[in-house]
Amino acid sequence: MNAAAVPDSTGETRPVRGACPHDCPDTCALITEVRDGVALRVHGNPDHAHTAGTLCTKVSRYTERSYHPERLLTPLRRNGPKGSGQFLPISWDEALAEVAQRLSAVVGRDPEGLLPYSYCGTMGLVQGESMAARFFHALGASRLDRTICASAGAHALTHTLGGKLGMRVEFFAQAQLILIWGSNSITSNLHFWRHAQEAKRQGARLVCIDPRRSETADKCHEHLALLPGTDAALALALMHELIVNDWLDHDYITRYTLGWAALRERALQWPPERAAAVCALPVQQIRQLARDYGCTRPAAIRLNYGMQRVHGGGNAVRAIASLPALVGAWRQRAGGVLLSSSGSYPVDQVALQRPDLLGERRPRLINMSTIGDDLLRPASAAFGPRIDALVVYNSNPVAVAPESARVVQGFAREDLFTVVLEQFQPDTADYADIVLPATTQLEHWDIHTSYGHTDVLLNRPAIAPLGQAKSNAQIFRDLAARMGLQDPSGRRCFDDDDERLCRTAFGPRIDFQALLQHGFATLPLPEAPFAQGGFPTPSGRCEFFSERLATQGLDGLPDHVPNYEPPGSSAAYPLAMISPPARHFLNSSFVNVASLRASEGEPLLEINPADAQARGIANGQTVCVFNDRGRYHCSARLSERARVGVVHGLGVWWRKMGLNGSNVNEVTSQRLTDMGAGPTFYDCLVQVEPLQPL
Ligand code: SF4
Repeated sequence: MNAAAVPDSTGETRPVRGACPHDCPDTCALITEVRDGVALRVHGNPDHAHTAGTLCTKVSRYTERSYHPERLLTPLRRNGPKGSGQFLPISWDEALAEVAQRLSAVVGRDPEGLLPYSYCGTMGLVQGESMAARFFHALGASRLDRTICASAGAHALTHTLGGKLGMRVEFFAQAQLILIWGSNSITSNLHFWRHAQEAKRQGARLVCIDPRRSETADKCHEHLALLPGTDAALALALMHELIVNDWLDHDYITRYTLGWAALRERALQWPPERAAAVCALPVQQIRQLARDYGCTRPAAIRLNYGMQRVHGGGNAVRAIASLPALVGAWRQRAGGVLLSSSGSYPVDQVALQRPDLLGERRPRLINMSTIGDDLLRPASAAFGPRIDALVVYNSNPVAVAPESARVVQGFAREDLFTVVLEQFQPDTADYADIVLPATTQLEHWDIHTSYGHTDVLLNRPAIAPLGQAKSNAQIFRDLAARMGLQDPSGRRCFDDDDERLCRTAFGPRIDFQALLQHGFATLPLPEAPFAQGGFPTPSGRCEFFSERLATQGLDGLPDHVPNYEPPGSSAAYPLAMISPPARHFLNSSFVNVASLRASEGEPLLEINPADAQARGIANGQTVCVFNDRGRYHCSARLSERARVGVVHGLGVWWRKMGLNGSNVNEVTSQRLTDMGAGPTFYDCLVQVEPLQPL
């Protein structure tokens, strides 16, 4: 523990209100108990209804993470080959001078040669894209298309419902039927699961739709283990049954939807027998699900992002998001669908990010999901300048981006200047030229929206920054000053401190005093957002048919778009692999927390005993998972959680903690989804072979 973390010594324990920063829909309200400047423990805020005083196992141990002996506490300069992880400490003055000089040189040649790379290492608006966005806008750097998790689903919702909007999570507790579609809620949406359990106690039927027999599937009444990438086929077959059995709300369809006749025609091409063959499900199971959905009120769907990480992910979300309008489920507050609520927030992104600093410039957009290929692209008329400098914050692309071999090759370029803002030294930091130590959530201000509920949360610093760590916003402020960046509007935007940025995020739309007092504030939203239509689409209706998609040359109606690598289509690679999160990790966060890593054990591949037996694989044996893109070593877990023909590479381990310095992204591809240009992690065929006898 660093002495700098102990600014006061009153001997009193005081609670500090905060917010969980991790990429999780629950966005819990935290309370940190602090004594003498030291964070003693973190627990859930009992006054916040969504948190209800409970955190997940991961964040309950947040002090272990903040005071981790491997926290980066000084700036570092590379002192060995890229990827070696060899660094020497330097002063902030040296670090800022070198970064400013190297970035200025790149920007002087062509600003688009500089690329920011960030995602949801923190979900906070301030330590995410506030001062960072101002900094890169002022320089005219390339812009990053932040696609790596949710863009297919986000585009699909926008083109169907009008935005990332849906039913309120608390009302799931009052549903009579809940479809949990593509979500292992017990692992990744714990506080929703509380509502689902309450509904179950009140007699609701829970149905899990997921290729994996997850912990959540174990606790549902029914599990449909469809093949990866076949969700749209299932949704279309449900529509077929709703139509032929007339389980439709004709009044709702007529008043509040667009494109019904065309969708009807499309759905009638999908009898359950056809979907059963595509999804590899029993016909009767599909028929029964359609009956349940058509005849039960209120009926609610909790979608999650796993199912949209395939070629047809956007179409699948469009098909599923169309279901509630067909049966009029939106009429009740406990009916509808929820994938993301993040579009509910009136964030003032213009004030926060200041896109006006770009002036007349419109820098190119680089897709973060193809960073491997893009780092290796030479300058060209089509691409623009080669990427010569990269500033990574809130992300660990060497571990989490698809097709690792290409990503590593790109990051290993000696002529690429890479700066990484980090709390620890994960794989990406090993490839940095300069590493800048960043604060954790206990040490800085931030303000949070959520994609699983609709409250705003404020995070106040509980302790002083450890060592020489600085908040992301402070680092970009310092760099802006060092590079002499000016705000041409005269508003001195590079002087805004973190608390002021928190206040700017919503401006007068949120009572900041209430946030300071309680730690959270609830948005005034209707209980049943689309009970009487009012979809924020161009037509004001739920758009089964999207003119906007049609004008982009895409199918205006949802359809089943087969995987790039359809299950069963390759003799060489006969197993379809998905890579859901390991229970004790959150993307690649927490892999270095010893107690959580111990709970997880080692990198695992779940494989059905029949598939294992056919390959001579025993439980616990080290195996090689491979395809044309790469090879990944891990331990086989023989498990009925995997259906025959599908394997689960649980992620995302840091590569350097993997068995052969690799992780599951060795075998994933950089191909993109049908809409939103998202990654297709779960559209991946592999073979598995034993590596050594037990
Ligand atoms: S990771 Fe999710 S469940 Fe865990 S504390 Fe954070 S918001 Fe809550």
